[in-house]
Amino acid sequence: MSWFKRDKKSIDQVTPPEERRVRTEGLWMKCESCRAIVFRKDLEENLFVCPKCQFHFRVNAKKRLELLFDGKWTEHDAGMVSTDPLKFVDTKPYAKRIKEAQKKLGMNDAVITAEGQLNGKPVICCAMEFAFIGGSMGAVVGEKVTRAIEMAMETRQPLIVVSCSGGARMMEGTISLMQLAKVSAALSRLDEEKLPYISVLTDPTTGGVTASFAMLGDLNIAEPGALIGFAGPEVARGFSALGIFAGTRIPGCRGAPQGHERLHLHRDRPADLLK
Ligand SMILES: [Zn+2]
Repeated sequence: MSWFKRDKKSIDQVTPPEERRVRTEGLWMKCESCRAIVFRKDLEENLFVCPKCQFHFRVNAKKRLELLFDGKWTEHDAGMVSTDPLKFVDTKPYAKRIKEAQKKLGMNDAVITAEGQLNGKPVICCAMEFAFIGGSMGAVVGEKVTRAIEMAMETRQPLIVVSCSGGARMMEGTISLMQLAKVSAALSRLDEEKLPYISVLTDPTTGGVTASFAMLGDLNIAEPGALIGFAGPEVARGFSALGIFAGTRIPGCRGAPQGHERLHLHRDRPADLLK
């Protein structure tokens, strides 16, 4: 009965199952808020805001600057790296954590400071990167933002900081906390020089960054639905259980703890407001 035998391999064996699927990741994106499947190109054209429900997707630092600046921009202090002053180790050494983030994201720390034109006007703009150790502020972020403020003063240009951060970087202990004071002091000098500072708060902006430069803008703009607070959701939930108020949120945010005061800052897209 040899004619029943299959000499060639079946199609199933020729192509391994993982390669049989059409690769759509990257082409289509699912909205976290309304669950609609959105074509990535449409989303990009709409500045990463869901065309169906206006949900603001998280945008990385490089993309943020691309969206804000008219064309090319000049990055400053790109080579600055943390020296790991405390030789800190938690679940893994801090030095290793930094190296991994650098390799993954192609940047040296959690902020990009740049100079360029926005709607034809020269500006200094800083954008924070949440994917780099939670967008936390250590000595490098503090120093780069301070230098950006000083550059704004020297060149008499307005300053824009787009915050996206979990707060101070605990692996740098007190040194990270000192950045709050350093950046705030530089901002007060910028204020004395009567130069405008616009702070854009994106999802999430919490901890020491909220407690310092994110809230010190002449104009503070928050994305709708962004998590804004001092303590993160887990800590806030713990405090709420004790009956202590621990944060403020913008309506429509994900995983908002019960009983929190809700604050609505703005419905428009920050990019539109700035242009
Ligand atoms: Zn949506």
